[in-house]
Amino acid sequence: MHGTGSDKTQGQTIPGATPRLTDPYGRPITYMRVSVTDRCDFRCVYCMAEDMTFLPKADLLSLEELDRVCSAFVRHGTRKLRITGGEPLVRRNIMRLFRGLSRHLHSGALDELTLTTNGSQLAQFAEELYDCGMRRINVSIDTLDPDKFRAVTRIGDLEKVMAGLEAAKRAGLQVKINTVALKEVNEAELTSILAWCGDQGFDMTIIEVMPMGDIGGEDRLDQYLPLTTVRRSLAERWTLTDIDYQSGGPARYVRVEETGQKLGFITPLTHNFCESCNRVRLTCTGTLFMCLGQDDAADLRAPIRASADDALLDEAIRAAIARKPKGHDFVIERGRHAPAVNRHMSVTGG
Ligand code: SAM
Ligand code: SF4
Repeated sequence: MHGTGSDKTQGQTIPGATPRLTDPYGRPITYMRVSVTDRCDFRCVYCMAEDMTFLPKADLLSLEELDRVCSAFVRHGTRKLRITGGEPLVRRNIMRLFRGLSRHLHSGALDELTLTTNGSQLAQFAEELYDCGMRRINVSIDTLDPDKFRAVTRIGDLEKVMAGLEAAKRAGLQVKINTVALKEVNEAELTSILAWCGDQGFDMTIIEVMPMGDIGGEDRLDQYLPLTTVRRSLAERWTLTDIDYQSGGPARYVRVEETGQKLGFITPLTHNFCESCNRVRLTCTGTLFMCLGQDDAADLRAPIRASADDALLDEAIRAAIARKPKGHDFVIERGRHAPAVNRHMSVTGG
């Protein structure tokens, strides 16, 4: 039974309990990704333009408001929260949010509180994250070559990220490396990144570039590398065995027999994961996106600010989930420079 979501006994609703959220296609909503800031200390070429204009701070949900929305979702049956951004660890006092949300881990209402980070601040925060109940984190690294790393992130320092990874390991955090497959940039390096992950005991997920947000002059097709090609080329060196593993996300997993680690492939341009989609995304301004690949969204900031009681918020959440679409509309077309979805990944956090 699932914590507060256990609202029904033999078909009867217990008075006062919050019904679990299920969308019109029967998919239970159990996973929320929360972007706590649109700001970042990197400017990855596929994610942001060099001269980004960030949101005025006044538009952001406060840490208390973020906690309130997350807690409402937990009450509605969300079992997993992933905190992301922008770079979540650059948001001031972000540990207060983690500390607060850890109460849902202690109560058993939440199975997992986790984080996607670029790793730049991990050396400072790894231990505290573990202390807040976090056990697994995703760290994004697209190349292990310091110069290339600087070029892809436009600012990032690989050495700092490596120090962060060491700190994460020391703290006891399990790490998964996220790598975006970029044609020509890291295409030839993916196999050595996989080997390095094996040495470090890290799982790895390779992500296909998604057409999200204006990235300032770069052409998506120049970056786009289909994962079918990546998998074929990795299979020349590694024995990849399909496995049934589900991380609660859209990745398809294989086991790398030589290292024993898992390798995931995220191919958002195919529809292969929509039918099992269990997630929604909250932006740092309180906008709820029911699908990463669609523009429809619901404002949760207004109902939170309109009343200290959660009745309006609960109603807005239920109305939003009732509109969750069946699938997404991603396409990368030759000659098309406009993104398929206008917001940047740093808004919804991927
Ligand atoms: N800053 C953190 C990080 O980089 O891990 C968290 C936010 S970032 C938006 C989350 C993930 O989205 C990262 O792994 C990043 O590589 C990926 N990402 C960003 N833009 C993308 C795009 N257009 N296509 C595919 N993945 C993207
Ligand atoms: Fe920042 Fe992450 Fe986007 Fe890179 S991918 S610019 S680290 S938010």
